Formats: sequence, C-alpha cells, structure tokens
Amino acid sequence: MIPFEKCPVCGGELETKQVEKLLRGGENTVSLKVTAEVCQHCGERLYAEDVVRSFEELRAKLQKQEFAHLKPVGRAFTVDKDWPNKAIQPTA
Ligand SMILES: [Zn+2]
Repeated sequence: MIPFEKCPVCGGELETKQVEKLLRGGENTVSLKVTAEVCQHCGERLYAEDVVRSFEELRAKLQKQEFAHLKPVGRAFTVDKDWPNKAIQPTA
C-alpha cells in the first residue's frame, strides 16, 4: 500500500492512523477522515496511491461544483475585510 517503511522525511517510525483531512477545490471544501501512515516523530502523513487519486478526484469535483457523494455539513465562512486584527485576512 504505502511504499515506505520509515518516514521519508526524518526516518521515524510510521503508525497507521485515521486522520482528518481538508480538501479544497475552487472556493469549496470537503472535510473527511482518512487512513494514513503518520510519522510518530515529525507528524508527516503518507497516503496510499489510490487515496491520493481520490483526493484529486474530490478536488476536481469541488472545482466543477459536482457534489454527488458529498453531504453538506454546516456552512463555510471567511472573515470579512473589517476583522479588527489585520494579521487575519479573508481567503476570498
Ligand atoms: Zn518523520
């Protein structure tokens, strides 16, 4: 599945975990849980090749506003330009 036994970044031990992932396509986002190999040392996440392909498929669907197999959850926001702390800026 994953072509690594150790973390390719730092050589640390990998552990199979379920992690949360946020994907963005255009101005749309989807959040999901996914199985990944996570480095116990640096936190690097590695995904299987078919999972990476699914991510690309999902980003493309979001971009094209095709929402089959996607379920709305809550609403998405950005801050407006009047947010008082100028270190924080809108994304769109
Ligand atoms: Zn690592």
